Parts: sequence; structure tokens; C-alpha cells
Amino acid sequence: MIEAEAAVIHGKIIYDARLPIEWAEGTYKTIVMPGFSDGHMHPQVIDTGFSQPYSYSNSYEWIEQRVMAIDEASVRRDESLSSRLAFLTYLRSILEGSTLISVTGAFVPNVKAWNLALDKPRIVFLPTTMRRSGWMAPQEIFSVSEKLRNSINDSLARLGIFVHSLKYSSQRDIKYSYSMIEAKKGIMGLHLSEGISELNILQRIMNSNRFNRIIAVHCLNDKVKPYGLTCISCPGTNVILYNKVKRDIYDIDSFGSDWPHIIGTIASHIHIINRIFNVPIETLLFRLTTGGYIVHGMSTQGDLIGFDESLDRVLKSNVQPIDVYIAGRKTVEEKQTFLTGYTLEDVERETKKAIDAALDLHGTGYISRNELFWRIRRAREAFLSFH
Ligand SMILES: [Zn+2]
Repeated sequence: MIEAEAAVIHGKIIYDARLPIEWAEGTYKTIVMPGFSDGHMHPQVIDTGFSQPYSYSNSYEWIEQRVMAIDEASVRRDESLSSRLAFLTYLRSILEGSTLISVTGAFVPNVKAWNLALDKPRIVFLPTTMRRSGWMAPQEIFSVSEKLRNSINDSLARLGIFVHSLKYSSQRDIKYSYSMIEAKKGIMGLHLSEGISELNILQRIMNSNRFNRIIAVHCLNDKVKPYGLTCISCPGTNVILYNKVKRDIYDIDSFGSDWPHIIGTIASHIHIINRIFNVPIETLLFRLTTGGYIVHGMSTQGDLIGFDESLDRVLKSNVQPIDVYIAGRKTVEEKQTFLTGYTLEDVERETKKAIDAALDLHGTGYISRNELFWRIRRAREAFLSFH
């Protein structure tokens, strides 16, 4: 039995709730069922590429103009560091209350870290394919997927593919990936309309008007839902890079953090998102929780987070849950991972160490350590102060 002063269940708020759940028991001020869903994140991103926020008009401009402190491709080739970064992302997710996450980036390290983790969130692996050195071709991703499928044969995890973008992936790769995904009844993620309108280009490439298996990430400049696309909005990085967010909540299915090491996972953005969107709170809560599960076709069964804070505090400040359940199993107790005893402070300290190691091993030499950590702080501040 769970009792709570306020319960958010699939986005609906119920006061003085008594829930006859057999897999959990306790009394909380607030519970959220399922927990928060982080619909898009890059576990290997540890640099913003710039010092001054709001400097770009679209993602291509950012990618072309940024000056990295750490060589991205080199980090991705470093399996042990990449998987360390993924592992820390998983711990951070559950400690903050993000019970479902969708990860792009380095495929094998992301899966290895998840298999090794004892306390972990539900997960969707959308490994990135991109026409750049250090990235996998879609054929390679599908063939590795087949090999890994057995090792993650678990209702907590799902596999798909992430096509980086219309510009950095070839038309052939985009079409091939989508045809494979259609045949396998899978899902495909894609950065779309991140600062420039791209829906018409997608329609031209695919020679279609319906895209039922594509999860569009950002969709800042296009209304996408009428075309069967689902939309994950990432207000954090949209603010940091472009000083704007997608305002049309009815064209958004769910939200993502994009850069969990830099700005935290989506559960830590609730108070900022709540301030940005002036819409009925249940409309927002549905998208922050169940919305991401629906987009990724994941079960919500047994996912719950419990707070010793009022719902008002959960919505208006950055508070950590005390307990977290994933698929009916406790994964966080008293703000520590249940089997392994990590706190959020531990994760933050370890993340700093991993970034230091990345600088030592894969630094470009253009940016100092102090400058890199200053960049990270500056990005966080830009998001926090956005109105
Ligand atoms: Zn992204």
C-alpha cells in the first residue's frame, strides 16, 4: 500500500491517495507514477563547444562553428570512458527521478554499461548513425543490434536507431534506416528542425507525408504531429544554444534533457519547464511522465517515484525523490541507489573525474580545464535564468 498527500498518475493529480500496490509500500507527500521520462539524451556529451550561450541560429551552425575542448570521436572510440559516462548517466537518471531514458551516442558502451549496472532506469537505445568518422553506418548498427538483442532481452530495454540529422546523414542511409525500422516495427529518432524548418526536406527525401515510426527531436521550426511524427522537445539545449523554446505544447509529446552531464536529466528541469509553459499543469505532467513512455512504446508498469516534499515544491523547485521504483523493484532508497549506495553527490564527483580523464586522454588542446568547467557552469546558468 502506498499513501500520498498528492499522487500524479499518468499526469492526473489525485489528492489523499491510497493505492493498493503490492510491490511497494510507504507514505509520501508526493508520488509520481510512472516517474519522469527523459526522451532524448547524449551520455557522451561533456562539452558545449562554446563559452557564450545564445550564439547560434540552428544546430548546423553550432556543429560547424564550435570549438571543442574534447575530441568527440576520440571519446566514442574509448570504450571504457564512454561506458563510464553512460553508467554515470544511468545513476544520475534514477537518483533525479527519470525512470525512463532514451539514449543516443555510442552504442556498445551504452549497452555494456547498462548490462553492468545493478541499479538502472528503463531504457531505449537509439544508437547514432552519422556520415562522419567515428560513427557507425546504419548497416553496422542493425547487425550489432542483432548480436546484442539477446544480452538485453529484457522488458526494461528496447533497441532502435538514431539518424543524426538530414544534413549529416546521407539520403540513402535515412531511407535504408526507415525501411529497416518499418520492417522490424521499431523506432527511429532524428534531430529535426533544430533552428531551421526541415519538414519539407524530410517529405521530399522520403517521398511521403506520413512518418509513423519517427521520433523527431526538437522540432523547433515545424509543426510535426499532423504528419504522424512524435516530437521530443529539449528546452534546455534550445535555450542554451538558441535562446528559444518550442512553445506549442500540443505539438510536443514529451521532453528530453539532451545533455545530462551538463544540465542534469529531465527530472531536474521540471521547475524550469513548469515556469516556461503557461499551460494546465496536468497537460504538462502527462508529457513529462507517461508521454515519453508512449512515444517509445515502453511499459509504465511498476515505475514510481516518491518525494517527501509537497507537489507544489516538486513542481517549483529542483527536489530529489527519496525512493524510486523501476518495474516494481526498488532502485533508489533514501536518495541512494538501492544496491550500490551511490548518492547524487557521488555521481557529480565521479562525472567531474570522468571529464578530467577525457581532457587528459582526448583533449584537443584548444581549451583549458578551467575554461571547460566555466562553459558547463555558464550553460546551466543560461537555462536556469530563462523566462
Ligand atoms: Zn540531441
